Amino acid sequence: MQQFRLGDTGPAVAEISALLAGLGLGNGTASSTFDEATDQAVREFQQRRGLSVDGIVGPETYAALAAARWRLGDRLLSLATRPYVGDDVAALQERLLELGFDAGRADGVFGRRTEAALRGLQREYGLVPDGTCGPATLRALRQLGRHVTGGRPQVLRESETLHRSGAALPGKVVVLDPGHGGADRGATGHGLDEAAVVEDLAARLEGRLTAVGVRTLLTRGADNRPSDAERAEFANDAGADVVLSLHVDRAASPRCQGVASYHFGAGRGTTSTIGEKLASLVQREVVARTDLLDCRVHEKTWEILRLTRMPAVRLELGHLSHPGDAARLADPAFRDTVAEAVLVAIQRLYLPADLDPPTGVMRLPDFAGR
Ligand SMILES: [Zn+2]
Repeated sequence: MQQFRLGDTGPAVAEISALLAGLGLGNGTASSTFDEATDQAVREFQQRRGLSVDGIVGPETYAALAAARWRLGDRLLSLATRPYVGDDVAALQERLLELGFDAGRADGVFGRRTEAALRGLQREYGLVPDGTCGPATLRALRQLGRHVTGGRPQVLRESETLHRSGAALPGKVVVLDPGHGGADRGATGHGLDEAAVVEDLAARLEGRLTAVGVRTLLTRGADNRPSDAERAEFANDAGADVVLSLHVDRAASPRCQGVASYHFGAGRGTTSTIGEKLASLVQREVVARTDLLDCRVHEKTWEILRLTRMPAVRLELGHLSHPGDAARLADPAFRDTVAEAVLVAIQRLYLPADLDPPTGVMRLPDFAGR
């Protein structure tokens, strides 16, 4: 690209002049002559942008000018073969970074990392995670703008949503997802099979949730086995507030034992914050109320966690390959205890921090209806 400076004329100068005018620089009118006003405007632009201030429009200044004309919302942004470049992309990246999503450097180029961060935001916000910054995402960003400053903003934003949705359980929609089903029995061991255990656990939990006013839906009956993508779609269609997927593990070694909880996450910046919180509450309540070994909370990208648009947690409740875990799981009283623990975890998710009781002590009927 050639350089343009004071005294030059022509269509390229007219374009430069129009770009400057669009930014409110110069005398505000486009001219096909690079005059004193244009020179002044270019210098001002260069100064603002941290470019060398020489009044000359070379490739670097021209690229910056071309990028500067885009304001966030002027066009749809997504990952493209020829990447979108512009101040709108930089503004989006800055917002994503502020909100805790790792968009890398705010370099104004819409690359893979920007897309991943954008999907993370969309997922957290309950939008379709399509990686395209369109009207719905812009609306979400505007809403976030009002409530969110500093700290871990996505936590604040989600807490705000939780707060608005009310601290009580009545009216919530919970989708319970007993794993496997039909001919697929899942893990087996010590006379038990996973599909039956989690079905029974789901029924115990369903009864408790329904009793406190929660609309409870199950992803499957005794005889069918939807795919995980179908289960996630079911939860999305139902507008569920949370999804709880119930599984029991097994391992090659009979010494493996314990309970673990999983939430969506694929590394820094794309974790489901509320999913993580619910997973941690479920894990802590189950561990506090039973003697299962604590195998902790982990991030996974399983479909039931990734394709659901609400916080989703998958519980792996003990190992059927372990004699002790299997004996516990065979006991109906133990399953009741677990159902109680999960119910309390779901309730605690919706309690404001000042009402949140210590782990292991809350009895739900005390809180129902408050
Ligand atoms: Zn399973």
